[in-house]
Amino acid sequence: CGIVGYVGTRASVDVLLGGLKRLEYRGYDSAGVAVIDADGTLDTRKHAGKLGVLRDDLEATPLSRGTTGIGHTRWATHGGPTDENAHPHLGDAGKLALIHNGIIENFGELKAELAAAGHTFSSETDSEVAALLVGDAYRATGDLTTAMLQVVGRLEGAFTLLAVHADAPDVVVGARRNSPLVIGLGEGENFLGSDVAAFVEFTRHAMEIGQDQLVTIRPGSVEVVDFHGNPVETKTFEVNWDA
Ligand code: GLU
Repeated sequence: CGIVGYVGTRASVDVLLGGLKRLEYRGYDSAGVAVIDADGTLDTRKHAGKLGVLRDDLEATPLSRGTTGIGHTRWATHGGPTDENAHPHLGDAGKLALIHNGIIENFGELKAELAAAGHTFSSETDSEVAALLVGDAYRATGDLTTAMLQVVGRLEGAFTLLAVHADAPDVVVGARRNSPLVIGLGEGENFLGSDVAAFVEFTRHAMEIGQDQLVTIRPGSVEVVDFHGNPVETKTFEVNWDA
């Protein structure tokens, strides 16, 4: 129900937890994060329950201070609120992490196709099919933006998706259809959020992402394309409410 993404120089886990806290008002039943460190190691942590459960676990056993990451609060639609069903979900043998808000209507047929190809599933969610598909597409193309573009065209329903891959340590890719996503523009760092509350603590300079568009953020760049990969015109705005 809430989504945060970060690339830059800060310890991403701190940015993610702060952003998820600010998105708490939307309601949720589980929370999770994925962080990539400079060595290209992807680490995830996720739990059913309030953010405090995740936070306590992270305090007891910290994740890396890696500067790329994604965070999610879940409002379960497919599969109960369990640790396994919490996001992120993994693909490409654990090297890709993906979070999803919304509902993938055609997940049943995609799941059957993935099962026939030999995949097994770690959750009961509709979201995991997207993680496995983007993982396979990354393996085939070696590029996270291309991989996401190949998969979003196959998904029906409503989704905001964010993905990171261990082999692309400075990149977060996001996509949206019938579900919100906005970019926060920083100096040497960039943010994604399901709304501006996710990053308003760090920047008030923001950019809209239109319907059926995909964004690739790196510490020094932001690129927005449509679902066919064509560049689109972007519009920036200033967030002018009190943080
Ligand atoms: N449909 C997904 C799930 O049940 C995402 C729900 C959400 O928007 O948080 O895991």
